[in-house]
Amino acid sequence: MSTPLDVGTTRGRVFVVGAINVDLVVAAERLPGPGETVVGTRVERYGGGKGANAAVAAARAGAEVHLVGAVGADANGTEALDELTAEGIWVDGVTVLEDEATGVALIVVDPGAENQIAVGAGANAALSAEHVTRALASHLRPSDSVLVSTEIPDAAVEAAVIAAASAGARCVLNPAPPIPGVADLLGYGPILTPNAGECLELAKMLDDDHTHAREAAAAIMARTGAPVVVTLGGDGALVLTPDGNVDHVRPRPAVARDTTGAGDTFNGVLITRLAAGDELDDAVRAANVAAALSVAHVGARAGMPRATDIEVGSR
Ligand code: ADP
Repeated sequence: MSTPLDVGTTRGRVFVVGAINVDLVVAAERLPGPGETVVGTRVERYGGGKGANAAVAAARAGAEVHLVGAVGADANGTEALDELTAEGIWVDGVTVLEDEATGVALIVVDPGAENQIAVGAGANAALSAEHVTRALASHLRPSDSVLVSTEIPDAAVEAAVIAAASAGARCVLNPAPPIPGVADLLGYGPILTPNAGECLELAKMLDDDHTHAREAAAAIMARTGAPVVVTLGGDGALVLTPDGNVDHVRPRPAVARDTTGAGDTFNGVLITRLAAGDELDDAVRAANVAAALSVAHVGARAGMPRATDIEVGSR
């Protein structure tokens, strides 16, 4: 039997700290080689960036979401903030930087869905620890939850994790990509949510080399003392908890058309359900269902479900 998620009213707020981008996608017959120009026909523009995408997933799943990040004082920035506001996301914590451009991802896709991406980080690279601390420190309450991803400078990631720890708020850190600074933050005890590759890479940074994500996650957990959730793409997710329990959450069958943003959906729904008071394994099950729904649509945000669409079957 499946039941839709309960969209309750008593829940903690969700703060998402991360990148905000505009994705410009050109569909071409093939990807260009070095120095080559290929002419595509279709040009599409999507809102992107791991922070902004996860914020959208969280808002659709029913959270009160506050986004912390940076955009430039340009048309892309205005459009990005308008889109996020239309999703019901609070953007007061987004700094508009006069001398920076809004982050842009230039994406070329071929008919086989293979892609080539160049990201101009722009304002995301200028997000400082001060911006993040100003947006979080005096606002966070112990009942709040903070989701941090790493397409922003190390100092900004660090400021977010420290602000959450100081406030006694829950912190989920999505190490995508696993920047070296993450290793120094493990002592703050964030819940980590790497994908399998990031999990191996992160363990390697800790001089704890492994060939299997499960062992790598256990090595990471030994440093955080907090659960590690490894996303496994079409194979679901692995949940390790400090009591030694390992749970493989099976994938929800999906016809994957575009897996861009699957991890962002997973993280946005995970933090929403934790903020709403779910136990970790229930929150992971909801995130796993939501992410499987999201991959059935083209575009990172197009398939992100609303709370009432996330039907979690009985275990
Ligand atoms: P990332 O996008 O960060 O690399 P993953 O590829 O691990 O992360 O995907 C995140 C989550 O999305 C998975 O844990 C799973 O819940 C869901 N997912 C991804 N691909 C599929 C798929 N083909 N079928 C079903 N679910 C999927």
